[in-house]
Amino acid sequence: MKPGRGFLPTTVSEMEGMGWRELDVLLVTGDAYVDHPSFGAALLGRWLSSHGFKVGVISQPQWDKPEALTGMGRPRLFAGVSAGSLDSMLAHYTAFRKKRSDDAYTPGGRAGARPNRACIAYTGLVKAAFPGLPVVLGGIEASMRRASHYDFWSDAVRRSILLDSKADLLVYGMGERQVLELARRMADAGPAAKPRAALTGIPGTAFMGDEADVPEGAPLVRLPAHEDIVEDPRQLMASTLSLEAQLRSGAWALQPHAGRSVVFAPPASPLSSEELDRLYSLGFTRDPHPSYKEAIPAVEMIRFSVTSHRGCAGGCSFCSLALHQGRGLSSRSASSMEAEVRSLTGHPEWSGSITDVGGPSANMWGASCKADPAACGRSSCLTPAICPRFQDDQKALTALLRRLKSLPGVKHLRVASGVRHDLALRSPAYAEALIREFTGGQLKLAPEHSCPKVLELMRKPAFASFERFLSVFERESRSAGKEQFVVPYLISAFPGCTDSDMRLLAAWLKKKGWKPRQVQCFIPLPGTVAGAMFHAGVDPSGRPIHVARGDAERLRQHHILIPSDFRA
Ligand code: SF4
Repeated sequence: MKPGRGFLPTTVSEMEGMGWRELDVLLVTGDAYVDHPSFGAALLGRWLSSHGFKVGVISQPQWDKPEALTGMGRPRLFAGVSAGSLDSMLAHYTAFRKKRSDDAYTPGGRAGARPNRACIAYTGLVKAAFPGLPVVLGGIEASMRRASHYDFWSDAVRRSILLDSKADLLVYGMGERQVLELARRMADAGPAAKPRAALTGIPGTAFMGDEADVPEGAPLVRLPAHEDIVEDPRQLMASTLSLEAQLRSGAWALQPHAGRSVVFAPPASPLSSEELDRLYSLGFTRDPHPSYKEAIPAVEMIRFSVTSHRGCAGGCSFCSLALHQGRGLSSRSASSMEAEVRSLTGHPEWSGSITDVGGPSANMWGASCKADPAACGRSSCLTPAICPRFQDDQKALTALLRRLKSLPGVKHLRVASGVRHDLALRSPAYAEALIREFTGGQLKLAPEHSCPKVLELMRKPAFASFERFLSVFERESRSAGKEQFVVPYLISAFPGCTDSDMRLLAAWLKKKGWKPRQVQCFIPLPGTVAGAMFHAGVDPSGRPIHVARGDAERLRQHHILIPSDFRA
């Protein structure tokens, strides 16, 4: 039996239907298998396939049964493991560590289809199913936990996930270059070769080794040892900032763990515009695998969205996306996106609406650094003020959005990705078009807070720029005769934030007559600077800050904005 149109095989009969006797690579993922470019297994699977490798996918396997992986046989080269689109602990637990009952990346939207700490569980499963097969971790869970990190759910500093999982290699950042290079190396090495040589030194990966693995004379960042971080929480801040700097500078990095070291090869360079175009032209059907009987909530939300770029220059201290995708921006060409929209209009479920055009942020398409980012010491291109070397092209973005909207079959085009309002203010033509033409009644914006000291710790723009954007929004909406609203995203209990800071924010909202709906009680994500602030109780310069750490204080801060929210 052939797999559904465009899908990679998930069973032996689908494999045989394609005339394959053996896989080269098996991808194991904690998400449902959806042939959409927002799903990592589909993206990497199609990328490897387009380069001639035979790839199979097993999604959401039962994690206590090795036979859940053996149906298609032992793959020839390696198994790639990912927890899915979210860190599995974040997917499973709320800000108050209560179990969630839903999972948007699973058929029927039910929780429970993937294990806690999925990278660790799936690696164990692969090792039991295929002893000796190299296992490669990737995706956001692996990326953010690649070095010693604070784990909110166990309230402890954990080692690199490489050690806890015993995987052979970890891919950090977006993974196309790394997995392709690895597949080529493993294929060239042949079955008799020792895999270690093939597994070391690929840009954008981490592996167990020592200083001898770092090329002589190469720039090297030495991270504090794991044991020192456990001993002294401030060392976590030093380690997190050093890893951020390593991403920028393109150096190697080394972190000792009990006599051994995690070696971080320099980051992989982002895909070029041409490579991104090629990736997105691989003919994704945007459908869930035909074996699923129930709808997958995430698919309903993103099926007709278009990714315009990767990377985010904002560097917000709480965000894992910027750390995962990097600060450098890489944008698709307008013609590639136009071709994608034309293909969307032929989808059987197309109703005429593009639900989003964007990336980690909506309005950074086409932006770049006019200088050498590797020589830059800043942690954000946009705060505390927009860097004079940051070059955006929101005029071209406006033209692009209009061009996509004018294509035959397109009735609506909305921008749903987060808009950087400080950036939007630099381009009145973009702001006007966004508000008048591409906002569907509600525009989500993320001021996150109103207090200068909290915003500074978040690396967010000053609140005055949000207020300025708001007045543009109100003016343009009025003059377009549209009744529409800004939905502000806010965070309570951020490190450095006190009850009185929350009251100031609440007073501002009251003055506006707004009852906020999108308030997230802060969750310290592994690998982020904000996570290090939460654990260490210091800001990035080492100054002590107040941290609402206990649930009682966190809930109190949260209830200052939403008195009746018990779901947090
Ligand atoms: S020089 Fe400016 S634009 Fe370039 S990376 Fe640094 S902060 Fe960003």
